[in-house]
Amino acid sequence: MIFERIKNLVKTIFIKGPLLELSYSKISAYLFCPFKYKLIYVYKQKVPPNPYISLGLSIHRALEEYHKNKGSQLQELIETYDHEWVNEGFQNPQQTFQFYEKGKRMLTEYFEFSLQRKAEIVAVEKEFQYRVGPYILRGIIDRIDRLPDGAYEIIDYKTHAELWDQSRIDSDLQLTLYSLGAKNALNIEPVTFSYFFLAHNKLMPTQRTKAQRQEALKQLKNVSIKIKKQEFSPNTAQCHKCDFKQSCKYSTAKAIASNAK
Ligand code: SF4
Repeated sequence: MIFERIKNLVKTIFIKGPLLELSYSKISAYLFCPFKYKLIYVYKQKVPPNPYISLGLSIHRALEEYHKNKGSQLQELIETYDHEWVNEGFQNPQQTFQFYEKGKRMLTEYFEFSLQRKAEIVAVEKEFQYRVGPYILRGIIDRIDRLPDGAYEIIDYKTHAELWDQSRIDSDLQLTLYSLGAKNALNIEPVTFSYFFLAHNKLMPTQRTKAQRQEALKQLKNVSIKIKKQEFSPNTAQCHKCDFKQSCKYSTAKAIASNAK
């Protein structure tokens, strides 16, 4: 039995190659534009820094450190934010200040919210991975809480200005993948999944069903097959909102930008 398993593992690694690793970031990059996936995960190109990415990273890192250190004061949270501030991608000091202040306001309101919340934080930046057929599903969950009734709540922080409507939250793939990870890799069955929209200080909960998880697995399988076949055609309908629009060789938004000059 053990010999058989070792034989299969050796066959998988040395004959079929390493298992493909998938995550929500990879899937969403592929669904946005297969060539964007190739740029990031095959050519290993870094996404160019911009103020929104830097603000998001700063807030995520500040909350991670603050909660890991069992912070309880607003001053601690703001000092952690200062320490974790990512100073990249800003056009000038005014823009840096404007984004810094935006983040400080979000964290101040978040702190007020957290004082009222009756839940225990049991994990932050919790990693999961498990094998699903020919690939491995990985993810990092921003936060897992235990509610007063003993049930779990998985929370993902969002720092963008847009507040999604409930129907989008009810069907969003990211939380469905987290529900798969929590159930199959972390052995917890949370009853609630939530996005915390920090720009609005609003926690928006939702649920996931078995049917949604099965549908997500089908989607992952389809994407993994296309990646294995190296189907990386550009989806130029997305160029205008792509991080690589100025450098990608297929970008149609770059042509528009240079014509406008
Ligand atoms: S610029 Fe357009 S074609 Fe290039 S990666 Fe982005 S979306 Fe795809």
